[in-house]
Amino acid sequence: MAISIKISKTTQSRIHLCDFENIEFGKIFSDHMFRVDYTDGKWQNPEIIPYGPISIAPSLSAIHYGQSIFEGMKAFKNDAGGALLFRPRDNARRLNVSARRMGMPEIPEELYMAGLTQLVQLDKDWIPTKEGSALYLRPFMFATDDFVGVRPSVNYSFMIFCCPVNSYYPKPIKVKIEEKYVRASSGMAGFAKAAGNYGISMLPSYEAKKEGYDQIIWTDGNSHEYVEESGTTNLFFVVNDQLVLTPKLDGNILAGITRDTCIQLLKEKGYQVEERKIGVQEIIDWCKAGELTDCFGTGTAAIIAKIAAIGYQGNDYELPEAEQRVVSNYLYNTIYGIQTGKIKESHDWSMPL
Ligand SMILES: *Cc1c(COP(=O)(O)O)cnc(C)c1O
Repeated sequence: MAISIKISKTTQSRIHLCDFENIEFGKIFSDHMFRVDYTDGKWQNPEIIPYGPISIAPSLSAIHYGQSIFEGMKAFKNDAGGALLFRPRDNARRLNVSARRMGMPEIPEELYMAGLTQLVQLDKDWIPTKEGSALYLRPFMFATDDFVGVRPSVNYSFMIFCCPVNSYYPKPIKVKIEEKYVRASSGMAGFAKAAGNYGISMLPSYEAKKEGYDQIIWTDGNSHEYVEESGTTNLFFVVNDQLVLTPKLDGNILAGITRDTCIQLLKEKGYQVEERKIGVQEIIDWCKAGELTDCFGTGTAAIIAKIAAIGYQGNDYELPEAEQRVVSNYLYNTIYGIQTGKIKESHDWSMPL
């Protein structure tokens, strides 16, 4: 059944106000947004409307009790000017994994895809073309009951908006292995992209910044002996440019789509890739022996965020220069090439609109 979405176009595009050469991440929004509401047990009245404020009740249950989840993905343009999405169905499925954990209704994948593709098609001119830039897409769902009481909401909204973003080549970052705070533990919701998981990370990352670190590496809640992930990225460790290790999906970390892409590409390239528990002590030993030749976080925003130094119990362990990072440079160039249609691949990861 074809999904029909009511489209109300803006009468005043703001695109001429956007300086595509200098876009501040997350501050500029395209002309339109998608919205669909869940009432009476069904998703109803999908529509695309001009981007703008929405009206909510002070008692909105998402604000008080945190039933709020999100996704993040990007649209790119190929050389012919066509829009390309990267693994969009994987994002739709992951949103539903988060929804189940948070006691929220799932959204049918076809409805998600219809909203997403029609929105990106309509705001296609907002996809920047400069090297490294993209249109960041933010799907999210939140509880909308006008009711104060701890129980799953009955009503929800699902929305998508778009932000043009410039190339995001961050300089390699300095990270600290966190031993005081915990992001997620067994039985919690670490695998969900749920708003509360980010709320609880603000103070720990603020404290790490005060100590001179850009980001923290979370460790397990039981012993702080095993690493989990860092900020909104999954972690990879490369030993002697041969063995690639990443923490296994144990329910505490997010199943990153970039993570999965990296694992597949590296295996195809002949690397030995292991998904397993990785001990803090192992990492420190590799650092001391000069065997940690590459280390990076993976996520939609940066694709690959190189780690320059790892801080642990007051010592900083420096890693090789960015140019020498064989694995991270290969992954960044390959993934960005696939996303922009310059590199052909057989996985059907890149979806033309
Ligand atoms: C979004 C996110 C990631 C990366 O996921 P991608 O699908 O690669 O963007 C990793 N960790 C956390 C905590 C995240 O929120």
